[in-house]
Amino acid sequence: MFTSFSLANLKMPEQLEQLRDEVRSFLRAEYAAGSYTRDPAGWDRYDPDFTRKVAARGWIGMTWPRAYGGHERTSLERYVVTEELLAAGAPVRAHWLADRQFGPLLLAAGSEEQKRTYLPRIVAGECFVCVGMSEPDSGSDLASIRTKATRVDGGWRISGRKVWTSYAHKAHLMNLFARTAPFDKNDRHAGVTQFIVDLDWPGITISPIINLAGDHDFNEVVFDEVFVPDDRVIGTVGNGWSQISGELAHERAGSERWLNAYGVLVHLLDSAGPNPDRGALEEIGRLVTHLWTLHSMSLSLAGLLNMGAMPAVEAALVKDLGNQFDQDIPEAARRVISEEARAQLPEEDPFNSMLDRALLYAPSYPIRGGTREILRGIIARGLGLR
Ligand SMILES: Cc1cc2nc3c(=O)[nH]c(=O)nc-3n(C[C@H](O)[C@H](O)[C@H](O)COP(=O)(O)OP(=O)(O)OC[C@H]3O[C@@H](n4cnc5c(N)ncnc54)[C@H](O)[C@@H]3O)c2cc1C
Repeated sequence: MFTSFSLANLKMPEQLEQLRDEVRSFLRAEYAAGSYTRDPAGWDRYDPDFTRKVAARGWIGMTWPRAYGGHERTSLERYVVTEELLAAGAPVRAHWLADRQFGPLLLAAGSEEQKRTYLPRIVAGECFVCVGMSEPDSGSDLASIRTKATRVDGGWRISGRKVWTSYAHKAHLMNLFARTAPFDKNDRHAGVTQFIVDLDWPGITISPIINLAGDHDFNEVVFDEVFVPDDRVIGTVGNGWSQISGELAHERAGSERWLNAYGVLVHLLDSAGPNPDRGALEEIGRLVTHLWTLHSMSLSLAGLLNMGAMPAVEAALVKDLGNQFDQDIPEAARRVISEEARAQLPEEDPFNSMLDRALLYAPSYPIRGGTREILRGIIARGLGLR
């Protein structure tokens, strides 16, 4: 059945250009001071010091109520800030998950005490969060998770195994997805609950998984009879599935889904020089038109979030197109700048290392946050095609 689909053409309000300039001059100054290096996967670099500087500018929890430390600004303002941070390749990962989805989840479903405890710390850049959804044999089909929470006096005992948990080794908290009632094949989505877990509690073991680029970004996290008190349940016991739907709209809507290889595109433009040949013009022209289209679509999503909507289908579409774009940039860069030309670049030229890194990270984009096939299924259902 066709639900609704809306990506209106939204014009960036002019007054936001001032904010954009403000973010750009912050980034210029930080870069000049050597506080970060540009990286095509900046979204994937964890730097608590940089995060605290972003927090000090008021750019974490931007849309959240003042009562919880937030800044009560609009989703469009937040959009401008996040887009600039990502385009610059700044290391923003430490606060990203908490700012993007854990905070909005608590605002929508958390208790008053949870909001007062965690949101101000997140806004200050002092509380980092990871997400424990996926398990061995349970990624796309999240309803099949086996991590089990058993009712005990005053709370729950949790045992199970999470996998691919990004930055669990650096985060303070996990937003944990666990089964609080036995699996019911007639209602697969019932009986799962979200918990806030301190990652230094007894019974939790975090082991690294090294990714294709040789970096330690994700982990396996094992829970062995971990006690979680009742006040750490987010929302209603058994209601985790419907709570997570809103969270995923936030997870998939942002420009981090199509700005991962932007640094390579900028270098490609520079390397192609002022008189590129026709082939280079076509490749770069195609990429730039796609970039602008994705920017417009993402901005439109920010507009929908601003109105309080949960644009799950639209976000799935932007993520799918964005993942393709992130993979297209390094491939186009390899075609435009030949291997011989790349071999002659001076050692200090960052193009080769950026390209290598973008190529090694590219396969992960259409897997994390929902695979391409799953997203296309959501889009097809939303459009009434299945
Ligand atoms: C870099 C990275 C970071 C991640 N970080 C986190 C994290 O922080 N926290 C977390 O919980 N998870 C994280 N994940 C896990 C990620 O969410 C899962 O890998 C993803 O949901 C896919 O699950 P899976 O690996 O079990 O693959 P599967 O679900 O087994 O899928 C395997 C293949 O089958 C296809 N497939 C599956 N079901 C269907 C279907 N119904 N129809 C058509 N095709 C289908 C998929 O598209 C895929 O191609 C991360 C993954 C990556 C790559």
